[in-house]
Amino acid sequence: MKIFCIGRNYSEHILELKNETPDEPVVFMKPPSALLVQNKPFYIPEFTNEVHHEIELVIKICKNGKLIQPQFASRYFKEIALGIDFTARDLQSKLKKKGLPWELAKAFDKSAPISEFVTVKSLGKGPIDFRLEKNGRTVQSGDHSQMIHSFSQLIVFISKFFTLQMGDLIYTGTPAGVGPVKVGDQLEGFLKEKSMLNCEIK
Ligand code: MG
Repeated sequence: MKIFCIGRNYSEHILELKNETPDEPVVFMKPPSALLVQNKPFYIPEFTNEVHHEIELVIKICKNGKLIQPQFASRYFKEIALGIDFTARDLQSKLKKKGLPWELAKAFDKSAPISEFVTVKSLGKGPIDFRLEKNGRTVQSGDHSQMIHSFSQLIVFISKFFTLQMGDLIYTGTPAGVGPVKVGDQLEGFLKEKSMLNCEIK
């Protein structure tokens, strides 16, 4: 099982981190050991002093495919969840400056909390809005129509390089409002105003 993550997919988040808007999706990966399931707490690792939350919509690939054509891409996912792409921002900044890969800052153990999946159909029509509360206050919100590269475009792009397999996940990028977490913080993610994800910071 592979976990793909997309960077810089919401304009306002690109601005807040002073990054350039990419022509093509920015893709990186996390290993399965990064998943954090069943609303278990997140322990801040010792190698960082600045872990940021990034709330994201996550789609699950439902059939195998390679070089998927745009007109068929929407058939490759039926389920969606909320996830957090925890990022050791201090470490990532160091790596970025040196032009090095991001893995150490992004793909570490339990850096990817994930909620239960629901069918996209069950969410009805219209924008799939989602948000993250930190200690009861909304810190990030967005909806899928704000994504620079849509779900289908991401599937088409990723499948040029990798065979997509049933069960693979795509974390589709975070809207603006990322910020640090500290011990004792309570994170709660909402998908269409339904509480889906809880994560206590330890
Ligand atoms: Mg992210």
